[in-house]
Amino acid sequence: MRSEKINPLFLPISTLPGIGTKLELLFNRLLGTRLINLLWHLPYNVIKRNKHENINEAQINTLVTLKIKVIKHIPSRFKRQPYRVCCMCNEIPIDIVFFNARHPVIKSTLPEGKEKFISGKLDFFRNSYQITHPSHIIEVDKINELKEIEPVYGLTAGLNQKIYLKSIQNTLNLTPSLEEWINDKNISKYSFLSWKESLLSIHRPNSIEDIALSNIFRRRLAFDELLSHQLAIEIIRNFNQKQKGIAFKNNKTLNNKFIKNLPFKLTNSQLNAWEEISKDLTSQHQMIRLLQGDVGSGKTIIAILSVLNAIESGYQAAMMVPTTILALQHYNNIKNLLKSLDLNVCLLTSKDKGSSRLEKLKNIKNGKCNFIIGTHALIQDDIDFKSIGLVVIDEQHRFGVFQRMAFSNKGKKPSILVMSATPIPRTLSLAAYGDMDESRITEKPIGRLSIKTSALTLDKENVLIERLYNKLQNNEKAYWVCPLVQESEEIDLKAATTRYEILYKKFNGKVLLLHGQLKEKEKESIMDKFQNEDYQILVSTTVIEVGIDIKEATTIIIEHAERFGLAQMHQLRGRVGRNNIQSNCILLHKDRITDNAKKRISKMKETNDGFEIAKEDLKIRGAGEILGTKQSGLPSFKIADLSYDNDLLDDVRDYVKEISINDPKLVSKNGLYLKNLLYLFERDIAIKTLLAG
Ligand code: ADP
Ligand code: MG
Repeated sequence: MRSEKINPLFLPISTLPGIGTKLELLFNRLLGTRLINLLWHLPYNVIKRNKHENINEAQINTLVTLKIKVIKHIPSRFKRQPYRVCCMCNEIPIDIVFFNARHPVIKSTLPEGKEKFISGKLDFFRNSYQITHPSHIIEVDKINELKEIEPVYGLTAGLNQKIYLKSIQNTLNLTPSLEEWINDKNISKYSFLSWKESLLSIHRPNSIEDIALSNIFRRRLAFDELLSHQLAIEIIRNFNQKQKGIAFKNNKTLNNKFIKNLPFKLTNSQLNAWEEISKDLTSQHQMIRLLQGDVGSGKTIIAILSVLNAIESGYQAAMMVPTTILALQHYNNIKNLLKSLDLNVCLLTSKDKGSSRLEKLKNIKNGKCNFIIGTHALIQDDIDFKSIGLVVIDEQHRFGVFQRMAFSNKGKKPSILVMSATPIPRTLSLAAYGDMDESRITEKPIGRLSIKTSALTLDKENVLIERLYNKLQNNEKAYWVCPLVQESEEIDLKAATTRYEILYKKFNGKVLLLHGQLKEKEKESIMDKFQNEDYQILVSTTVIEVGIDIKEATTIIIEHAERFGLAQMHQLRGRVGRNNIQSNCILLHKDRITDNAKKRISKMKETNDGFEIAKEDLKIRGAGEILGTKQSGLPSFKIADLSYDNDLLDDVRDYVKEISINDPKLVSKNGLYLKNLLYLFERDIAIKTLLAG
């Protein structure tokens, strides 16, 4: 289906010259597996390789390009000794130095007596000039092939600019010219160049301006990305609207029985939300509804009510959550809540392998399982439901929109309930997800005390630990969340481990450590121990952020709170205050912090209201930044930056509307070109949907 022309861009990265298994792995981790992924990774800077006639004019520690004459080789005699090539540049001596060098290679690239151009970082070492591992060694007559300006890419350890440059340039050479898919109106409005020209100009810049945010090359690609995204949403939505939904029965025996057995009364807010959802569920059209409610507002109960309605109507229901820990926790809680009802709840995660997985798949297919809780494993292709009627997606912000929609492509059109604790402003959610109905739970369960939040500087740490020690004497538990160092999980872990050791001594070993590098099984067992055994503190990196529900936990300490975003701190705080005991949140922070960090901390102290927090978050960070982060719930774009490209979005939407009216199935000539675009941004699911409709 993909056109011949663009096929080469979907080859594995290992098809490039010089990319073996080890490098391929690094590329894959950084970008993805295909050549096209390289094209979307734009340079963030440029470097100048200043050409100098005379070394004395060049600056130490900068990149220089010099014409040298090779005088003599001094090969290394043992492993740690460098290989030195003594040269002259206009009467001034300079050494070229190699570590772990392959002698014959150097001898042949820099033969004695010959002139060459070399480029690299100029050092001054033991009173003489030197360049270590020059990035370029060039024949004198080929100097024009060396670009004086070179793009710089964000890379990962093990992958260097030289390899990357070669790979991206090779990929550009494979890049075809494609027929234009943007309409004339926008091409002329923005003066866009073609897709290929734009890519070439960015990846082969002539100046720093060529890669600027404002530059028309990048803007063109941003337009493309937004177009592919909005078009995919539109296609899927058109398809969904044509499909009939499933009308559940109005009979609610299971629901009533369940509500009667609950140890608490539903809040008015919960009842309202349930009424709205229930109306949708019993109607013919397909429900796609977002249930927003602050952490701890009791969304799960509403999900269960919907599930029971589906089951009573003879359908299966699935609940998808972002992590295995959370899936397990939901599974245990829900089984417990449903124990008086005769249901077959099953848990399916990526941990189910081999025969256990097959057994579960069988029961899902023959309908023996009527309520399936799981992770991403639930949307794998080989999963075949007997009659899926409802899909609940919890903590939606960890899933992309396309994963969410994938469900609606299976069999009949199941109802979809998306639950989220992170309120997203309407304009942003429209851009990201298209239209969705919305219900809100605005109040917390009765009797819930609001969490007391205080801030403390790190030098008072010992006072805090002493207080904590006294507080935890009566069966209460605490979370201690350690600082977030985004660049490196290893540093995260080191901080958490140090904290763990300190607390372990003080609390006589009743302390556990949880972090992202543990295996899923170990994480589960730690969570389980913390919940059910005599442990008092769980020291953790931010892995506990989403959804964990342990009633006995009444204190949360967030260390280096100044490094956390507002929404994230609020999510973390929501881990406590899950019963009627007064809970506390302590924000431990550095003495001197930025104004924005101060604002965030004081907002946390001021309010417990998630919607208000979200509003403030937007004010402090701005829409663009919220869109870009993982916590926001919104898909992040590779090229577009919605704080900058907002104007494009309006034009993209108008254009998509036009397409949707004139050529919804993309069968015209222009439609075919648009399909290329969808493939290039890997919106394959939209194409599948086109085929299915
Ligand atoms: P969230 O909205 O964050 O997903 P949960 O659904 O996990 O919240 O609910 C938090 C806790 O509150 C759970 O232990 C749940 O059983 C309890 N809960 C839910 N509704 C009520 C209610 N109306 N009254 C008292 N407790 C409730
Ligand atoms: Mg929840």
